[in-house]
Amino acid sequence: MELKKRLDHLLERIEKARLAYSRHHIVRLVAVSKYASLEQVQGLYACGQRAFGENYIQEFGRKATSLQDLPLEWHMLGHLQHNKINKLLELKPALLHSLHSLELARAINTRAKEPLNALLQVNIAGEVQKSGVPLENALETYAQICQTCPKIHLQGLMAMGPVNGDEAQIEKAFSLARNLFDKLPNAKTLSMGMSGDFELAIAYGANLVRVGSALFKD
Ligand SMILES: *Cc1c(COP(=O)(O)O)cnc(C)c1O
Repeated sequence: MELKKRLDHLLERIEKARLAYSRHHIVRLVAVSKYASLEQVQGLYACGQRAFGENYIQEFGRKATSLQDLPLEWHMLGHLQHNKINKLLELKPALLHSLHSLELARAINTRAKEPLNALLQVNIAGEVQKSGVPLENALETYAQICQTCPKIHLQGLMAMGPVNGDEAQIEKAFSLARNLFDKLPNAKTLSMGMSGDFELAIAYGANLVRVGSALFKD
């Protein structure tokens, strides 16, 4: 299928899920370009898509630099190592989704000259292979970052459904993330939902979905 058709089809599905949840609920789409070529990103831009997400700093840098003449909005989604903080800050992402600990927040805070918008990544399903703050510490960590890291502007949460989870397990994870989100002061972004589960995520109140393979893979 051509890119425009894929985007249109995806937007229709998002719209349907959004309306089923609430007419007043706005859902943002971040197109995850980790599987995409520069040409595909340009192609999606030509269809009106502005927000793109990458997992690796190096690839983020390469794409953002090559496409710097386009008014794109870049999101950093992947695990961030401490030795990549300066590079990340140079790239000025619109939003860091993968702030995964208080230590990382403090390290960013000491190096940042300008504020960085970020989401606290929560490891909802408690999976060892995934980074993120454990659910039971998330409220406290969120508050500590708000109190001690003025350069980090926390805007909410990023969560992922369990890998290979069945629908009930994914729903449970999304519902836990949503309950946590509702307890946070001034949080506005709940980033959850990928190609396989974004409709379910929207049903649980996600207002930002990160979709890659449904756009870029066969
Ligand atoms: C790869 C990735 C996505 C997109 O996943 P798809 O299943 O390809 O839509 C979303 N979020 C994160 C953090 C990712 O690493």
